[in-house]
Amino acid sequence: MARVPFICGNWKLHKTIGEAVAFVTELKNQLGTVRDVEIAVGPVFTAIQAVAKRLEGSNIKVAAQDCFWEDKGAWTGEVSAPMLKEAGCSYVIVGHSERRQHFGELDAAVNLKARAVLRAGMNPIICIGETLAQRDAGETLGCCSAQLDAALSNLTPEDASRIVLAYEPVWAIGTGRNATPDQAQEVHGFIRNRLREKFAGVADEVRIQYGGSVKPDNIAILMAQPDVDGALVGGASLSTEQFVPIVRYRKS
Ligand code: PEP
Repeated sequence: MARVPFICGNWKLHKTIGEAVAFVTELKNQLGTVRDVEIAVGPVFTAIQAVAKRLEGSNIKVAAQDCFWEDKGAWTGEVSAPMLKEAGCSYVIVGHSERRQHFGELDAAVNLKARAVLRAGMNPIICIGETLAQRDAGETLGCCSAQLDAALSNLTPEDASRIVLAYEPVWAIGTGRNATPDQAQEVHGFIRNRLREKFAGVADEVRIQYGGSVKPDNIAILMAQPDVDGALVGGASLSTEQFVPIVRYRKS
C-alpha cells in the first residue's frame, strides 16, 4: 500500500499575518510543482484565513495548531473545528505535546478534538509521544499505546482512514536531538500494529509522521523507514532554506 508522504509545518507562536503571507508566497514559488509529497503549513489562528487565501488552488494545504471540541457555545477564547474549516483549513493538529505539557490537555480532550475535526470534514493530525523520563524508564511503547488508544476511542474505521498520526518524542521537540531512524521505526511499527488490531482494513492507509528536530540533513534517513510516512516539522518549517529541502528530501 503506497502512502503519499506528508510533510506539515507547525509554526507554533511565530509569524504575523504579513510575515505568514509573504512566507507562503515564497513557498508557493519554490514548492508549487511538487506532486509526490503532500505539503501543509500550520499558522497561528489569526493568519489562517489570509494564508489559505494566498494558497488557494495550490498544492500547499493549511493546518491549524489546535481547536476546541464543541462547534459553538459559551466557551470564551476557543475556536471550533467548523470555524477553522470555514477559514480554509484541511488539517488540525491535536494533542501536541506543548498543549499537553503547558495547557494540561488530557487524552480525553485529544479524543474529543480529533472527533470534532472529523465531524467538520477535516483530518486530524493526532500527536503522541513519550517524555524523556518515560523513555528512560522503558515506558515508551506503553505511553504511546495508552495515548493512541485514548485518542482513537469511539472512532469508526472510516474515521480512522482519515486520520494522520504524529509520533513526537517529547525529548526531541525543539531540542536538536532527534530520534534515530531505528528508534522512530520501532515506535512507528508498533503504532502500525496497534492500528491493525483496531482497524484491520484501513491501518495500512494511515500515515504516521515523525516529529522532533527534523532537519534537511536527517529527513531522508527517517523517511527511508518503512512506517515513517512524513514529518511534523517545528523550528525548521519557519524558513524556506530549511523547509524546502525537507519537502524535497528525495532530491537532496
Ligand atoms: C513540533 O513542534 O511538532 C516539532 C516537532 O518541533 P521541532 O521540529 O522544532 O522539534
